[in-house]
Amino acid sequence: MLDNLTQRLAKVVKTMRGEARLTEANTAEMLREVRLALLEADVALPAVREFISRVKQKALGEAVISSLTPGQALVGVVQQELASLMGADLGPQASQLSFATQPPAVILMAGLQGVGKTTTVGKLAKYLQEQHKKKVLTVSADVYRPAAIAQLQAVTAQVGADFFPSHVNDKPVEIALAALDYAKKHYHDILIIDTAGRLGIDEAMMQEIAALHGAVKPIETLFVVDAMLGQDAINTAKAFNDALPLTGIVLTKLDGDARGGAALSVRYITGKPIKFAGVSEKLDGLEAFDPSRMANRILG
Ligand code: GDP
Repeated sequence: MLDNLTQRLAKVVKTMRGEARLTEANTAEMLREVRLALLEADVALPAVREFISRVKQKALGEAVISSLTPGQALVGVVQQELASLMGADLGPQASQLSFATQPPAVILMAGLQGVGKTTTVGKLAKYLQEQHKKKVLTVSADVYRPAAIAQLQAVTAQVGADFFPSHVNDKPVEIALAALDYAKKHYHDILIIDTAGRLGIDEAMMQEIAALHGAVKPIETLFVVDAMLGQDAINTAKAFNDALPLTGIVLTKLDGDARGGAALSVRYITGKPIKFAGVSEKLDGLEAFDPSRMANRILG
């Protein structure tokens, strides 16, 4: 996971730790290396700038300079600022899902095709049943790909949640409203709506999901993004965030050789918390996202 970034940072972190004295010159040199490592990992430029400027400010501050091991203190600052870039400042509450509504609480899933939306619905259903003892119903509003509906049915059955069937001739909003009505009548706590994704950003897709959002008024609108997509992941996140009031992000495929760009900048670019990370193809491969733990992993 983010091995390249970790390798690149390992060298400079080692140098930092060894510095008994921090000067403006050696600090600048180390930060230049960190900056390059982040840019190479596809972290968005404004996020890199903000990060480096915050680290620089603290590096030359009293707490670091007067520390007995200034190099070590500087590594601490880098760790802290990496975590903060990924949302640590938002507090542990930020990764929690909200259920504060009259049941059923609706969770709307958004994102491009192939990023892992349907798999994530299965993972979330399992997580909500096991960790929160919720009764979960899933439904697919993807009327363009019958295979997508069948796939959702299969993952839902695998985790033992309930599935609301939809048909390709139905309209997405009608499907979602019918599922919501069914969920109310059958006392489901949560309705998760999977939606159609395209291969790229597309006006019709945005209008359709905005209409779904307006009709079912979800308490959570989660944007699912593939961490392997690097800079592209950040651009699509920005486009969806502009079109929909997202409440959080799910970062998938962090178990692959993602370069780190999306993990490190999607929170900064959208202002929305990363709530979960997908770490396997299997349906138990979902973790609550923890910025500090992630920063530790990245620094190795
Ligand atoms: P959708 O088109 O967005 O609904 O994407 P799918 O749920 O069909 O997933 C696309 C592919 O990504 C499938 O092969 C999934 O098994 C895989 N996938 C989804 N999430 C993860 C993950 O966290 N890690 C890995 N390694 N694969 C994932």
